[in-house]
Amino acid sequence: MWDLIIVGGGASGVAAAVSAARQKCKTLLIEKMGFLGGTSTAGLVTPMMKNMIGNNQNLTDGIYLEVLEKLRKTGHAATHTDGNPGWFDPEMMKCVLDDICEEAGVDVLFDTVVTNVKTQDDLLISVTCFNKSGFSELEAKYFIDATGDADVAALAGVPFELGESDKTYHFMFLEEGNHKHQAISLRFTMANVDLEALGDWLQKIDPDSGVSPVVKGEQILLTTAHTWEDKDWKLRPYFDQAVKDGVLKSEDAAYFQIFSIPGQKDAIAFNCPRIYAEKSLNPLNMWDLSYAQKMGRKQIRRIAEFCKKYLVGFQDAYISQIAPQLGIRDSRRIEGVYKLTEEDIFNAKKFSDPAAKSNYPVDIHSREKGKSELKFLPEGEYYEIPVESLITKQYTNLLVAGRPISATFRAEASLRIQPNCWALGETAGNLASEKIVKE
Ligand SMILES: Cc1cc2nc3c(=O)[nH]c(=O)nc-3n(C[C@H](O)[C@H](O)[C@H](O)COP(=O)(O)OP(=O)(O)OC[C@H]3O[C@@H](n4cnc5c(N)ncnc54)[C@H](O)[C@@H]3O)c2cc1C
Repeated sequence: MWDLIIVGGGASGVAAAVSAARQKCKTLLIEKMGFLGGTSTAGLVTPMMKNMIGNNQNLTDGIYLEVLEKLRKTGHAATHTDGNPGWFDPEMMKCVLDDICEEAGVDVLFDTVVTNVKTQDDLLISVTCFNKSGFSELEAKYFIDATGDADVAALAGVPFELGESDKTYHFMFLEEGNHKHQAISLRFTMANVDLEALGDWLQKIDPDSGVSPVVKGEQILLTTAHTWEDKDWKLRPYFDQAVKDGVLKSEDAAYFQIFSIPGQKDAIAFNCPRIYAEKSLNPLNMWDLSYAQKMGRKQIRRIAEFCKKYLVGFQDAYISQIAPQLGIRDSRRIEGVYKLTEEDIFNAKKFSDPAAKSNYPVDIHSREKGKSELKFLPEGEYYEIPVESLITKQYTNLLVAGRPISATFRAEASLRIQPNCWALGETAGNLASEKIVKE
């Protein structure tokens, strides 16, 4: 019997596990992959987005900064000139997350998926797991759902919202519906890129580089970003030509964003392709997800060929990794005690018990042309996420952390960034351990 079981070992799950274990709770972390990090590692989502205010003051601290510091010591994390400390190497992130869990005394069960739960009145009693040892039922005093999709909460009957709709659903939702979700992506990396040549070229033709300038020196940090709504992007003629030549399909150029990776000296991480589909893909429908995997790999091959033929620095490059996991930007959002809204975000609302602070914009990646959005808070403002958004109405010993907390579609489009997930997880771990210690 554990004090605390956390399901899901992404940013929020690791933060929850480490904070609770440090407070002497007997903590088990269950992860369906063979490594920790979730979207940050399995989804190849690097870097973490900037979550800073004023003169580069971090809105997230704690375990998030500790992890980055550990990576920085070996050259696998770096700070951009814009102050963002969140540039990191996803491969080494896996190792550092092992270390930090081991140091805190967290028991980790890999390659184990939670398939069901047992409940009694307002308590979650156990989770049913499946792995190579078969099925087992694991009990704890307290549970945190950090699955990114609120799997545990949904299995326990906690109602949730899905996509743009504010309709309430219950598990199991597979009905074909007209729910609009953010675009799903499948990220990948290319290696053997001449970063120096690429950086020089980007600085010459695209000095703004979409986000921020190239940083040279020991670590070359470069990025450029573009959506198909953007008319003035300097790389656009190359995409147009490749579409004309039949190397790319126009939907492959819907979104293009690249980042170099600290510690991987010749690698580029792609925050694309957005998976092309004629309808919005449902992140809870396995047929849609299976389609997305295959379509993503087709698009990746075309984008890689495009880079090699049309962009500087990629001539000898090759696809070095395709993310083991799809990039899901939104899925279930639980109906919790407090639902965070877009108004809260733009009113820079504060709460007596904040779980996280952020000023990240509402960032909607739409699969439809002209529908993507990036809406910023007023300069110098930030909002808070209350702990009540992590608390379910049905259970006294279950918290939800990370992306699927109680929020509207548009609020989730801001709060989903990794720094917030680290903060939400750490708060959930602290809340659970306070209760466990009191008991
Ligand atoms: C394409 C894309 C680009 C993004 N870009 C950025 C960016 O540039 N910067 C940024 O900061 N954020 C970005 N984000 C957002 C951010 O990466 C995620 O929202 C965040 O990492 C989610 O963290 P999490 O802990 O909530 O969930 P996850 O990282 O999804 O972790 C959930 C974990 O639970 C495990 N799991 C799930 N179900 C089960 C189960 N039933 N049993 C056992 N284990 C289970 C999964 O394997 C996973 O490890 C992006 C997201 C996407 C999809």
